[in-house]
Amino acid sequence: MDTAQRTPTPADLETISRQLGRPARDVVEIGARCVCGNPLVATTAPRLGNGIPFPTTFYLTHPVITSAVSRLEAAGVMTEMTARLEQDGQLAAAYRRAHEDYLRSRDEIGQRTGVGSVPEIAGVSAGGMPSRVKCLHVLVGHSLAAGPGVNPLGDEALERIAEWWTKDRCYCAGAWDETGPAPSRDLSRHTKTQGLSEAELEAKRAERRAAREAGEAAEEEGQA
Ligand SMILES: [Zn+2]
Repeated sequence: MDTAQRTPTPADLETISRQLGRPARDVVEIGARCVCGNPLVATTAPRLGNGIPFPTTFYLTHPVITSAVSRLEAAGVMTEMTARLEQDGQLAAAYRRAHEDYLRSRDEIGQRTGVGSVPEIAGVSAGGMPSRVKCLHVLVGHSLAAGPGVNPLGDEALERIAEWWTKDRCYCAGAWDETGPAPSRDLSRHTKTQGLSEAELEAKRAERRAAREAGEAAEEEGQA
């Protein structure tokens, strides 16, 4: 996307707050947009306004995509992909290149947004890269922001949610609450310092871990 498309407008930030059901903070760019223009991916600077280093750059915000990806996670796709990474050298090499692209993109975003380099998270990407799959939302967010051909497992996850979401169609109608005030009212003042708090992310991770463990337990029962 060009600079104008990447730059979040107050309307974008309000939409993201509605999509997430909580105030959007530290969103510095829009990583990907729906064909209708609504945000799909919020781009967060590698250092938050409060100074905390932040490795997860591309965050999926569109509820239709996030729930479709959650279905894949619940079906055990991450375990399956991680196993394939251990067996398929070509896939592993492509996934490592995706990890490197992620780091490069994050550096560029740090430069563009005036955050500069963040040595605390040098070499650390997200989602389990470069050798495991720990969060499919991260990989799909990366694929949507980078375009096809960069993150093989993010691309694959997008193909596998095609019955629920595809990039050439708008799925926004009714996907989030448009009535009443958005979860945040002070969108104009903190445009550069809004995002997801570490506590919010940890809560989400715990939720996913629980879902994954439940999925794995179910899988084991199925095999027994
Ligand atoms: Zn749309």
